[in-house]
Amino acid sequence: MRRGPHRIRRIRRLGTLTALTALSFAALTTADEIPYAPNRTSAGPAAVPGRIGVGTCRLTPGPGVQMSEGTPTPPGYSRSTGEIRALNLMIDFSDAVGEGKALDRLAEFFPQTTDWFRTSSYGRLHYLPQTPVRDWLRMPLPFEEYAIERGAPYDPAYRKLVDDVIAVADPQVDFSAYDLVNVLVTPNAGPSALDTVLSVTFSGNAEAPVADGVPLANTSFVYSRQDDGSGTHAETGFRVLPHENGHVFGLPDLYTADGGGAVGHWDIMSEDWGVNNDLLAWHKWKLGWLDAQQIGCASAPGSTTYTLTPLARPDGPKMTYIPLSGNSGYAVEVRTRGGNDEAVCRPGVLIYRVHGDVDTGEGPVTVMDSQEDSGGCTRRPNVHAELSDAPYQPGQTFTDKENGVRIAVLSGRSGTYRIHVTRT
Ligand SMILES: [Zn+2]
Repeated sequence: MRRGPHRIRRIRRLGTLTALTALSFAALTTADEIPYAPNRTSAGPAAVPGRIGVGTCRLTPGPGVQMSEGTPTPPGYSRSTGEIRALNLMIDFSDAVGEGKALDRLAEFFPQTTDWFRTSSYGRLHYLPQTPVRDWLRMPLPFEEYAIERGAPYDPAYRKLVDDVIAVADPQVDFSAYDLVNVLVTPNAGPSALDTVLSVTFSGNAEAPVADGVPLANTSFVYSRQDDGSGTHAETGFRVLPHENGHVFGLPDLYTADGGGAVGHWDIMSEDWGVNNDLLAWHKWKLGWLDAQQIGCASAPGSTTYTLTPLARPDGPKMTYIPLSGNSGYAVEVRTRGGNDEAVCRPGVLIYRVHGDVDTGEGPVTVMDSQEDSGGCTRRPNVHAELSDAPYQPGQTFTDKENGVRIAVLSGRSGTYRIHVTRT
């Protein structure tokens, strides 16, 4: 059984919405400009393991790690490229009767989630939300009796709930027709997401109940509403779903018990509250959304110059990876304001350490901060401020003496940066 860890309570920040200082608007890419790529049904980390990895730039999943940053993602997770059919079921309970229409609950997440994946994947993931049942599905037991709490285990709480979802929906649903399942729970069931985040995903779950001949192994549950009271829920409330579906595709949580301080707002698996954000290049690589020729592998001693283009743009070199061992290394990418990244206030070169042997929720990724203890450049609510100015600028150098790694940012023009990697 695999699942994301307990979702910690986010720190509620209701500061004044300060205008974002955008230093550079490099080739803003909107979702509409990215067409769907042809259906690549055979792609995806689980389907084609050999596709992930450039030379010696592999990251091996550590032993005993539940959900790893390593590549390839083990079998059992959903494909992350091509046409992905998502079954959406809206459920309610006798003690939490659905308020309004079930389709209104669905509309909190779509079409935004489809657009989010199309933009982030450069059109490689064609997310097809399907709703064969258009009304609330009433569960046989009251919500209280399922004993769903934060971090509730799959057995017996979720097993009972999934069994009941299958039993109630089965007459109208062919479960074998879908790649993943979203259970959108009526928002009045359970506590407010401000107090306790119940939303959870059971992914790659080998013990999942079978319906119509297929195990419901990749199922996301969304509860309550991620509404921080800042008035942005209509634009940002959907983001819990791409986060939960990220687990279905094999991505670990990047926030830790201490909050989002390891990665900040640079990945939706770190912070899915607040203004829109994208995934790290490492995650896009792991999901099969970047090609091998877009990745530079700095494994050899000596000095090499690499060009990097903004992650928000579809084409060009996107990431340089510097392996330190078989299960750890540095990844380098360029982040600008564009695509799904709406909160970038200091565009530049983002450097982070990736560990294949650190589990979900325990800090598998750590962003290097070019401006430590600066307080950051954003004042947007629910954005980890300190790391918002983390990207390195031309003239700045990151050094890891212990591992003999030096990354110098040489230049940055129109969002295209040149970096110089030295290994001793
Ligand atoms: Zn999560």
